[in-house]
Amino acid sequence: MSSSSLRRPGLLALAALAAVPLVRCASSSSGEAKPARRAQQRVFIMGFDGMDPTLTRRFMDEGKLPNLKKLAESGTFSTLGSTQPSESPVAWASFATGVNPGKHNIFDFLVRDFQTYMPDLAGVKKEPPKFLWGWLPTQRPKVTSTRGGTSFWVHAGADGVKSKILTVPMTFPPEEVPHGELLAGLPLPDIRGTIGTFSYWATDLSSFEEGNTEMGGYLKRLLFDGGVAQTFIRGPENPILKQEEAELRDRRRAGTLTEEDKQRLEEIATSKDITVPMTVKWNEGSGQAELEIQGETLTLKAGEWSPWVPVVFKANFIVKFRTIAQFYVVRADRELQIYAQPLNLDPRNPPIPISKPDDFSARLADQVGIYRTTGWAEPTWPLNEGRIDEAAFLADCERAFEDREKIIFKSLEADDWDLFVGVIETTDRVSHMMFRLIDEKHPMYDAALAAKYGDAIEKVYRRADDLVGRLQAKVPKDSVFMVVSDHGFHSFRRGVNLNTWLVQNNYMVFEGQEGQRKTLADLFGRGKFWEGVDWSRTHAYAVGLGQIYFNLRGRESRGIVSAGAEYKLLQDKIARELVTLTDPDTGERVFRDVYKRDDIYQGDYLQYAPDLQVGFNDGYRVGWQDTLGGVNRTIIENNNRKWSGDHCATATEISGGVFFSNRKIAAEAPHIMDISPTVLKLLGVPIPQDLDGKPLM
Ligand SMILES: [Zn+2]
Repeated sequence: MSSSSLRRPGLLALAALAAVPLVRCASSSSGEAKPARRAQQRVFIMGFDGMDPTLTRRFMDEGKLPNLKKLAESGTFSTLGSTQPSESPVAWASFATGVNPGKHNIFDFLVRDFQTYMPDLAGVKKEPPKFLWGWLPTQRPKVTSTRGGTSFWVHAGADGVKSKILTVPMTFPPEEVPHGELLAGLPLPDIRGTIGTFSYWATDLSSFEEGNTEMGGYLKRLLFDGGVAQTFIRGPENPILKQEEAELRDRRRAGTLTEEDKQRLEEIATSKDITVPMTVKWNEGSGQAELEIQGETLTLKAGEWSPWVPVVFKANFIVKFRTIAQFYVVRADRELQIYAQPLNLDPRNPPIPISKPDDFSARLADQVGIYRTTGWAEPTWPLNEGRIDEAAFLADCERAFEDREKIIFKSLEADDWDLFVGVIETTDRVSHMMFRLIDEKHPMYDAALAAKYGDAIEKVYRRADDLVGRLQAKVPKDSVFMVVSDHGFHSFRRGVNLNTWLVQNNYMVFEGQEGQRKTLADLFGRGKFWEGVDWSRTHAYAVGLGQIYFNLRGRESRGIVSAGAEYKLLQDKIARELVTLTDPDTGERVFRDVYKRDDIYQGDYLQYAPDLQVGFNDGYRVGWQDTLGGVNRTIIENNNRKWSGDHCATATEISGGVFFSNRKIAAEAPHIMDISPTVLKLLGVPIPQDLDGKPLM
């Protein structure tokens, strides 16, 4: 991959997706695939994101996970070493490719732009569609994967092995799998091109609260007149208006903007969203509400969820975005509150392919009904922001699990595979949100809530165990059966603001007040970042979940640190100072280690890697605003969010996942990079030379 394809020209909104399907995706397979053949050995892998070895061991010992316990006793149960950092995109990329991040180019959820220092989502590069005369689509949107390396299913397929690959993280955009079917997982976005923007309408919102929230919500006030309120559902940004805006911006840069252009630019800047009208009927105290959307009426009682319903957003008479929406009436007594899930791409006719072959997502929908498609399928953000409660969150997590599960079972029906990989991430989401209720030391621990929902994590593990039992009954007995997770879990009690530390220690020069609070919409929508940072005097900056980048001359546009001796000196100095940081409240050491780039990564993508990667001790994570490059007043602060468990940038020694198999393994410390060569060896497919993992069997 050329480096220019990774240097982002800026944030190209993925929301600019035209109705016409077909996107060119990067295909890492090379050459012609061999004809289909039977593999030497069938392999089935079930992945549970974030299943933690310590919790798993505890629940097994308590007799709560009988199926996993049986697997452990007859085969293998071990901690599975994770990547640095131990985050889903990074770890699942190493799972797929069998290499370290230096060879697959995924180092975090976020990447930063060398030119602008702006953060963007890692893993995908987007190019908007093009229109002629402001309406006729002439070029489809393009989404390319920036992940390097080759997935084991692509190697296997090229060698003739038939496979099914279902909702594995880091499989969007979907890659061509010879003799295989693949349904994409993370970072498959919602229709706005985000991880998941939810909507929320309420009578008790003030006008000041309207708009984007920190964690990716969109709030709208309901004003009733005679029991009827007119509002709208906010869909994607209009790609035609986005193109017009870009052209006007070019003209402004060139100094040829007319007065009329200027007005038009201002007009577009504030309203590029395509919306669909929604009429809400409600009488105070009635306990229910009626929603009218595109000729359909949904009558929902308080506490009731609608089914997933199609909603179509039209940019013009040709360009349409097909989505599915789901509504939940939170309350309908003296106030009315309505929550809506992020708008998922309709699997029957997605604006861009979400599977390979392209029609696989639609065939699945024909067989199992409509299913949620966004990679982030669980409503963590509305719970974090208090728009829905624990009961609603957990009930929806059940259905998200169900959605993934039914696709797995449907795909198992036709016995036409030799390699099968399915991943469910609900284990991770429940752990993120509910850890505060199993950790009495957490600032958000609540005894009353713990009495009610303290078993939520245990329950999702039991559900995973139950699924393992049912899968074992279904998967052919002669298969090698594995259960894996990408990382473990820790309590997230205290947030650590790396940029604040960098400012206080003069590695970053920041003038002015505490930064403006950033929202996820800023990230996805080209918000303002780094106001007050003087790059001409800044040596290092932090973006993402534990990454420190140097302001390197020749790499960063305003770089001041020289490569070579100065770089190494800075690495040593920051690492040495940072690692001694103690929490003033507890006296505990915040970091277990601070890793230098070249000590933990090797490969062609080194220049995109962080120059330092932190390894947190139990209880710590990067602070909320710090992830987006914000600068706060204090270095260490309490985490007062419901999002209370985490694993991102926890030191690798304490952040491994789980590995179960019905076979015994020789290795004592299996690593997630070992899965790919293990599977290839079992299937009888040649193992490429440059893998970092080793076969476990
Ligand atoms: Zn997670």
